[in-house]
Amino acid sequence: MVRLHEISWSEAKALFEKTDVAILPVGSTEQHGPHNPLGTDHLVAEALSKVVGERTGVPVLPIIPVGISEHHRQFPGTLWVPPPIFRDYVKATALAVASHGVTKILIVNGHGGNTAALLETAGELRRDHGVFAAVLMAFPPAMMKLGGGHAGTGETSVNLYFHRHLVNMEKAVDTQQKESLGPLKIEGFNTIGPAQFPWDTIDLTDTGVLGAAGKLIESTKATEELGKSLMEPFIEEVSVFVEELKKADLDSLLSKSHK
Ligand SMILES: [Zn+2]
Repeated sequence: MVRLHEISWSEAKALFEKTDVAILPVGSTEQHGPHNPLGTDHLVAEALSKVVGERTGVPVLPIIPVGISEHHRQFPGTLWVPPPIFRDYVKATALAVASHGVTKILIVNGHGGNTAALLETAGELRRDHGVFAAVLMAFPPAMMKLGGGHAGTGETSVNLYFHRHLVNMEKAVDTQQKESLGPLKIEGFNTIGPAQFPWDTIDLTDTGVLGAAGKLIESTKATEELGKSLMEPFIEEVSVFVEELKKADLDSLLSKSHK
């Protein structure tokens, strides 16, 4: 597996003559409960990128480790950048890679708060710059269904699978999310009555573990085995997608002109 920052420019020259696809891992540095590392979202994005890069021979670019996380700011250690800066940084990075001939990029994103900005950026790259970027969530959809949530059973299990030494299960706790903001009732993940509201994590949880109002989030049930069973089929699925991306003709992926 090739990581761009580990090779020389002359090796990069030869590499870019052979491939027009790269993986760009993106994440966040933000609180993930009392038991998971602050880097969870970027560490998982990087770990998935590396294993998919190994399987497919597609080069992996350096990680972008700080994202849109201001809503976690009351928890020490959380870092963030404003959304316009994040969008511009990702776009400029993609354009720099594209200048070397890599025009198909898989953005592997570990943080849900980045998704909207990444899709906007990918849209701009596709429409205005002749670059096709797809945005992949680094955590499998199956994880969210299975006692999911931020720093909950699923995410902690994925951490145990990829980097057990960074998880302190002795500090893991189960969390009941708060169910009201002042007099107003919070329902589901982030709705207040019939509306949505711009919550900070601290509005919803004291531990930093986040799920849905009225539901117990059982971080203590996390296991490495569960992480393995969630990630291994997903790694396979993403690797198949990358193989398809390698074969795809760029023009067939770009934005169409007027009919
Ligand atoms: Zn996370």
